[in-house]
Order: sequence, then structure tokens, then C-alpha cells
Amino acid sequence: MVKRIITGPLHTNTYVIEGVDKVIVIDPAEPLFFDKETIIVSTHGHFDHVMGVTDMRYKEFLMSDDYEAFETSRGWALENLGINVKDIPKPTRVLNEGDEISVNEVKLKVISTPGHTKGSICLLGEGYVFTGDTLFAGTIGKVWESEMVEKMAHSLWKLKSLPDNTMIYPGHGGPSTIGMEKQQNPYLNGEL
Ligand SMILES: [Zn+2]
Repeated sequence: MVKRIITGPLHTNTYVIEGVDKVIVIDPAEPLFFDKETIIVSTHGHFDHVMGVTDMRYKEFLMSDDYEAFETSRGWALENLGINVKDIPKPTRVLNEGDEISVNEVKLKVISTPGHTKGSICLLGEGYVFTGDTLFAGTIGKVWESEMVEKMAHSLWKLKSLPDNTMIYPGHGGPSTIGMEKQQNPYLNGEL
């Protein structure tokens, strides 16, 4: 049901969940087009998780208040990759902890997980979680600011509290499960 497409210059995992007449697109780094009403959700503001939105047709674009991270990463992209990232549209709805996204039969719950960026979120579905750049298989996303370390530790604790059989769909790289990460990921075992 969850389909992964790799998009953009940093090989972002873009996830597509198709419902009956609507489609959820998570973290598009390239514009993607569907015949269904499109709901875009971004896990954080980094350019490689939002840059596809600008040229897409959509009904809703949902993300947290993370525009500062977009601006910073946009400067980084220009400097390091020579990519001129276009400005992104304002979200049609700003997401916060506990918010629910309900599209056809799919329900996603917002877990606020600051650390990689101030506004990073994870999206919890039934038996799976989209973790953006907060948690990867075997590692975590970079914490760019020292004052965010403690927040990241708390965010990881929240993820660790999910059932072991919860599938992890990260923003880059292959999938995993919470149980696997509790075994193999040093950052879920006090390293930070
Ligand atoms: Zn990121």
C-alpha cells in the first residue's frame, strides 16, 4: 500500500499512499502528478523534502512550522550543490503534535520529533511510521545545532516507545522496524 519513489538530488524517499479517490504524497523532492486529489505532507522543511511541492498540483500541503529549516537548507543547496531551489508555497495547514491527517481509509497521526530540525515530525499510521530524517535504518539524521541534542534524544525516546513490529519508512535509505532499530541502532541505545 505504501509505495516508495526515490526523488531529487539527495535521493529522498518519497512515499505515495493511494486511497480510493485521493493520494497522499510524503516528502516529494520532484513534482509528481496523479489523477486523484493530492495531499502533500512534508516531514520537515529541508529543501530535499519539499522542493517538489512548488510545481505540483495539490489540494492540500501540510507541514509543521519549519520554514527556517527550508531557508537554511536552501542556502546550503546553492552553496554545496549549485542548485537554486525555488521558494515553496505556504502550507494549507500547519501540523502540530497529535494532529491527524485523514485521507480516505488512511489515518496518520503527527508525532512532533524536533532534533534534526526544530519542526521535524514523524507520521504514524497503522503499523508503520514515516520518520523523515529523524530516524534511519542503523543511524539518525544529523543534529545541526547543539541545543537540539536533548530534544533529539527525547524524540528518539518517543519513537522507541512504539511497538517493536512498527515498520519504519525513513526519509533516506531502506526500511526497518522499531524492534530492529532497538537492537542495531546505537542512537536508540543511549548514544548521542
Ligand atoms: Zn533533512
